[in-house]
Amino acid sequence: MGLRVDKPEAGPRRRWLLMAAGLACLGPGAAPLRAQEPQTGPPTLKLPLAAEAAASAPGEGGVPGGSVHFIGTATVVLRLGAFTLLTDPNFLHRGEHAHLGYGIKSPRLTEPALGIEQLPPLDAVLLSHYHGDHFDQVAEQKLDKLLPIISTPHAVRQLAERGFRSLHALATWQAIELEKGAARLRVTALPARHGPPVLHAALPQTMGSLVELLAPGGAPAWRVYVSGDTLIHDALHEIPRRFPDIDLALLHLGGTRLFGILLTMDARQGVQALRLIQPRRAIPIHNDDYPVFKSSLEEFLAAAREAGLQDRVQVLHPGDRFNFTLPAERWR
Ligand SMILES: [Zn+2]
Ligand SMILES: [Zn+2]
Repeated sequence: MGLRVDKPEAGPRRRWLLMAAGLACLGPGAAPLRAQEPQTGPPTLKLPLAAEAAASAPGEGGVPGGSVHFIGTATVVLRLGAFTLLTDPNFLHRGEHAHLGYGIKSPRLTEPALGIEQLPPLDAVLLSHYHGDHFDQVAEQKLDKLLPIISTPHAVRQLAERGFRSLHALATWQAIELEKGAARLRVTALPARHGPPVLHAALPQTMGSLVELLAPGGAPAWRVYVSGDTLIHDALHEIPRRFPDIDLALLHLGGTRLFGILLTMDARQGVQALRLIQPRRAIPIHNDDYPVFKSSLEEFLAAAREAGLQDRVQVLHPGDRFNFTLPAERWR
């Protein structure tokens, strides 16, 4: 699948939206998107079968496993069978500033558990949106420019300008398959809205994603939902209708506020997400890392306890790893 580039436009409606948002200017990539052309099936990205990666694939009885290694903010190393994905790379150190657009900067309060040089070999980066706490200066400078990156059309335009060369833009509900030898992984873009109605148009286009490891027969054997920076909104209701069996959810919480306006799920909305998406297990991420994150992990845990949903929540602190094995009956 090639690189999609949509030309930015700045029509009167767009300018009105910006005035409504009280913001002075807009980056060149945030224009409304044209509809994607219809496709017959997900495009396939063939990955090299590196010896090291093949050897690291778990294989008890031929049934693979996986893990979530939490690095910090929304950065995780997600292993699923033979595949290793990196999400939303944020490798700034404590005190260094993330750029949030419009000249707004926020200092990081936490340390990443790993330096970018310490990452294992990666197959791809899954990027929810182009915001400085999700793709920072360190990632821009140090990630291999040929490493495949799957993201929104907006983020792909930004990354193309910065020299990245294997960019794969997905519109909502569009999918791409990664192939590595006989192993297959599918990534589908899901709805996400980074702010309240109207105002979200002044923020980077964002996507949730569903990552599915496919069994040899092609059926999904394990499903991971990554929320992206989003608020609970109507479009999310379609996710459990299309994908009712989600094994694991990575929920971007933190209750981010800029100018007092809520831009990501807080503790209360995190509980709503558990009820709506119904994951078997959820890992809250994107908490307590920046001063603009106003709703703490502790607040979410208290809200989950109050709702009787604490058994579904898996807390990971930076550096922690959550391991899982696929049910054998799904691997056929
Ligand atoms: Zn964001
Ligand atoms: Zn964020």
